[in-house]
Amino acid sequence: MSNDPMYIHNQFAQVNKRIKNAALACGRDAEHIQLLAVSKTKPVSNIISAYEYGHRSFAENYVQEAVDKIQALDQYSDITWHFIGPLQSNKSKFIAEYFAWMHSLDRIKIAQRLNQQRSVYQPKLMVCVQVNIDNEPNKAGVAANEVIDFIDELQQFDRLCCRGIMSIPKATSNETERAASFANMQDLFEQCKARFDSIDTLSMGMSADLELAVAHGTTMVRIGTDLFGKRET
Ligand SMILES: *Cc1c(COP(=O)(O)O)cnc(C)c1O
Repeated sequence: MSNDPMYIHNQFAQVNKRIKNAALACGRDAEHIQLLAVSKTKPVSNIISAYEYGHRSFAENYVQEAVDKIQALDQYSDITWHFIGPLQSNKSKFIAEYFAWMHSLDRIKIAQRLNQQRSVYQPKLMVCVQVNIDNEPNKAGVAANEVIDFIDELQQFDRLCCRGIMSIPKATSNETERAASFANMQDLFEQCKARFDSIDTLSMGMSADLELAVAHGTTMVRIGTDLFGKRET
């Protein structure tokens, strides 16, 4: 069923409506909230269905899978590809070569490599700093109190443009806790914006917490399950 183009078109319409309603509920303009379609583990045919619906921004998590899909979709040259997964430094050249955006930057060493590997014939690589907003042990991301310094350091890399911050919320069913970490991200986003001209992106919100993210100022939601159906893995 989730392979049916009509199913995918319908899911996109519903998610777009959720974004509009959530924006309306808190007095925001839905135009300021971009939808990223997270297509990880899903076949190229699903991406084409979304493309035919009119969608152009896709996000992937796994380097090899992503590169295979991007190559297969080579003729769809107006797709914008976002990388949102964890990255080993030895794979950075694929990100530099194939992606427009990288949301999961949390190490200067990786930034340095991406900067070296990004061709001068391409636009700058847009990056977001991943923030470990709940200070979870073993979780990727820069600590909230180190983010400003981290972005300061990124200024030396002229092939990168730091656009904002990104977070993956702690796996918790506690709404209050989740709202608190989204509020902390919103606060940090305001501080970063005040300090750096290039910052305009708060990458936050997934299928389960889209509305909460909109209420806390997100500018880019990353939605997989509610667009393409449940993932097998
Ligand atoms: C998989 C993933 C998403 C999408 O999650 P859904 O719950 O399927 O909407 C968003 N962001 C990141 C970083 C992911 O890995």
